[in-house]
Amino acid sequence: DIHPDTRNGLHPVTLLNRNNLTLLDTGTSAEQFLQQKISNNIAQGHQDAFYVADLGDIKQKHWRFMKELPRVKPFYAVKCNSTNEVLQMLATLGTGFDCASMGEIDMVLRMGVPAADIVYANPCKQVSHIKYAAAHGVCKMTFDCEAELFKIAAFHPKAEMILRIATDDRDAWCALSSKYGALVEQCEDLLKTAKNLNIQVIGVSFHTGSGCKNTHSFCKAIEDARKVFEIGKKLGYQMRLLDIGGGFSGNSEFRPTFEEFADVIRQSLNQYFPNNKEVEIISEPGRYYVESAFTVALNIITKKEVYEKGADGNSRRKFSYILNDGVYGTFLDFYLVKEKQKLKPLLGKDFATEQELFPSNLWGPTCTNVDKLVNEFYLPELETGDWVIFPNMGAYSISMSTTFNGFPQPKVYFVLSKGDE
Ligand code: PLP
Repeated sequence: DIHPDTRNGLHPVTLLNRNNLTLLDTGTSAEQFLQQKISNNIAQGHQDAFYVADLGDIKQKHWRFMKELPRVKPFYAVKCNSTNEVLQMLATLGTGFDCASMGEIDMVLRMGVPAADIVYANPCKQVSHIKYAAAHGVCKMTFDCEAELFKIAAFHPKAEMILRIATDDRDAWCALSSKYGALVEQCEDLLKTAKNLNIQVIGVSFHTGSGCKNTHSFCKAIEDARKVFEIGKKLGYQMRLLDIGGGFSGNSEFRPTFEEFADVIRQSLNQYFPNNKEVEIISEPGRYYVESAFTVALNIITKKEVYEKGADGNSRRKFSYILNDGVYGTFLDFYLVKEKQKLKPLLGKDFATEQELFPSNLWGPTCTNVDKLVNEFYLPELETGDWVIFPNMGAYSISMSTTFNGFPQPKVYFVLSKGDE
């Protein structure tokens, strides 16, 4: 069942680094693999935190994207999770890549991805990075202000520029338009400046905010993009690319669902960009592809009992557990996006349903009080050495994590079902 998009008809596994990939027997799930790892760790006295990453999940997400948005080619946002195996899997599936810097472009080119499959989608670029893109034939890049145009005119005359417009992303987890994106009213002047500098402009991009919660943001942004297309055309530009950004969650509990976003996007595209031949449409999804593929398992390195007086004057039992990864590692995005902090840990061992529950704080391992993952979550009494599991940890986790206090990044075990090969 090779998808028509699969690059050169290559099987994903032929490109994947097999040294760090476990092929799961039919009937064995990634969750079972993780539980087995925990059992082995307990038996062998190992405590290091680790991830299990199910590459089959990423493949499923890709099929779903192609089914729901057949007119849109995904350019995966490398910043979200740039592990080799993820990038290799996506390259093999035939996605393009959204890169934010010379480092990301380099990573993607080294995998053999053609420069034409890269969009350099950081509107504000350092000159040395622009020169690198020019030297390597990466031409599609975004801009949202005059200063960028002057740099492009000087250092990348062959660039194919995409004008990033602001969106209404107030409801999103990360309202990117507070930093990037020209207002529709500014676009004519910007396009005139580009014309005077002899710069090619090929289209419009936007981002409705990472963790977008409002389908209407896409309708409005697509309508605005059409307006800017018309301005560009009047100035003599052949506008031929629309980039609808990213923003979709990859967590199945998130609402609206990807299908609900896709419905609205398809309708708006049909209304404002009905002609397939005239305009190529791309997207820059990050979270969507990787969030649910990664699960992290952490070890309780210290259990502490805290005695506290409740409102009734009676003391109540409460626990603090220190885990071996935290806010400065896997969970920085959770810290930055406050709303996501309602993390729901799963437990590495079974408890009876009638087990008494206690308010529990879960902390990361660094010596700061900021490093808190879960506040007063009701859990059964756990012990030092027990395991705690957090699913949906693939987005902005590994790529953002630090080694603050000398704690290493958890190792990733990549798995793929034999049926998913
Ligand atoms: N494109 C651009 C320009 C971005 O800044 C981001 C995220 O910050 C993305 C794509 C990916 O967004 P998401 O992970 O929400 O899909």
